Amino acid sequence: MKYIKQPPHHHKPNKDSKKPNHEVCKRCGIILHRGRWQKNDALVKEHRKLNQLTLTLCPACRKEKEGIAEGVLTIDRAIFDSGAKEIQNEIRNIAGQEFNRDPLRRLIGINLTKDKVVVNTLTKELAVTIGKHIKKSRKGKLEIHYSPHEDFAEVFLKAIE
Ligand SMILES: [Zn+2]
Repeated sequence: MKYIKQPPHHHKPNKDSKKPNHEVCKRCGIILHRGRWQKNDALVKEHRKLNQLTLTLCPACRKEKEGIAEGVLTIDRAIFDSGAKEIQNEIRNIAGQEFNRDPLRRLIGINLTKDKVVVNTLTKELAVTIGKHIKKSRKGKLEIHYSPHEDFAEVFLKAIE
């Protein structure tokens, strides 16, 4: 005799099968909604309940896995003479705000050397944005160089002599 397992009451099958599944990043949990990747845990939860999620890797996590950095910002030591810790906090704060605005903009890392701080970012825009913010708060001369195919940005914040 065939036994058919009944689904529990709270588990309704997805009637609205025309509704496309939402893509969710299995690594960082952001969701693709209306053409934009965003951090929205409530939306993820909602679609998980409806069984409308497709797990994938978002473009940012794909780049992170491949070790691709599109932006590098180099800041002269003279700009942050007052303290290396403060400048790092400042950079992290700006990056955090940008991440909240667009979770594909990510800080990869901050390296401190004797005479400069080097900031690696996943997107070109983030390196440029951080450079502009630091310039505003600490002065300096901002130089932005793009690679010939514009897939890489090198940004320098130099002390004004
Ligand atoms: Zn991701």
